[in-house]
Amino acid sequence: VSFGYEDVAPEEKTQRVGAVFSNVARKYDIMNDAMSGGMHRLWKDQFVRRVKPQPGEAILDMAGGTGDIAFRMANKGAEVVVADINQDMLDVGIERAMERGIDGLSWSCQNAEQLSYPDKQFDAYTIVFGIRNVTHIDKALAEAHRVLKYGGRFYCMEFSTTEWPGFKEVYDLYSHKLMPKIGKAIAGDEESYRYLAESIRRFPKPPEFEAMIRRAGFVRTRVEKILGGAVNIHSGWKA
Ligand code: SAM
Repeated sequence: VSFGYEDVAPEEKTQRVGAVFSNVARKYDIMNDAMSGGMHRLWKDQFVRRVKPQPGEAILDMAGGTGDIAFRMANKGAEVVVADINQDMLDVGIERAMERGIDGLSWSCQNAEQLSYPDKQFDAYTIVFGIRNVTHIDKALAEAHRVLKYGGRFYCMEFSTTEWPGFKEVYDLYSHKLMPKIGKAIAGDEESYRYLAESIRRFPKPPEFEAMIRRAGFVRTRVEKILGGAVNIHSGWKA
């Protein structure tokens, strides 16, 4: 499997992705603003508008990190479980939730590839900027399908490379040259951001990823492109 520019054994990828997020956890939120010029907030708002969380619904926010998506869904009254493989990211999230006084959340350290939940527990499963870090994407999708109730919905937001001419060149230059430099300047960590940029380039393109979602058993799949496909919202239903 690929870890940034390198090919590594699957266990090594999981372990090195762990190190990346432990390194960036404390600076994660400020880095998102710096890297996206604040735009990630708008994409996350848009994503949650599509998910349409309802009061009392059980939602699993997988790879939920420091809680950005979960906070927005809890504010709509949903009962959200934030699950992430990295306890350092969750710890930052728990602190932020306390500071903001957000209720309706629980936190759980879990690998998306092998969830501890029984079948058919959740009304919705969300995963935002997380799936490309997972070592075996097909396993994570199968688990998402398993833990959803019938009629449950799957929503995933992930980066890809944009198709807009002109913007593509700017984006490539930005993500491969500038992102690692910003990472170095703000978080003192160039390598992690080099990995993050490269992992975007390596992630399956939207049609290919949509096919994987269908193979996991989801129906009525859709892709909504933002910025010419630089960011994509994938969705599907468990029938
Ligand atoms: N969803 C959050 C957001 O949008 O701000 C966090 C996204 S962050 C870029 C990616 C997260 O994926 C990290 O917190 C990382 O620990 C988590 N992650 C990576 N591999 C994972 C896995 N196999 N299972 C669960 N979480 C994983």
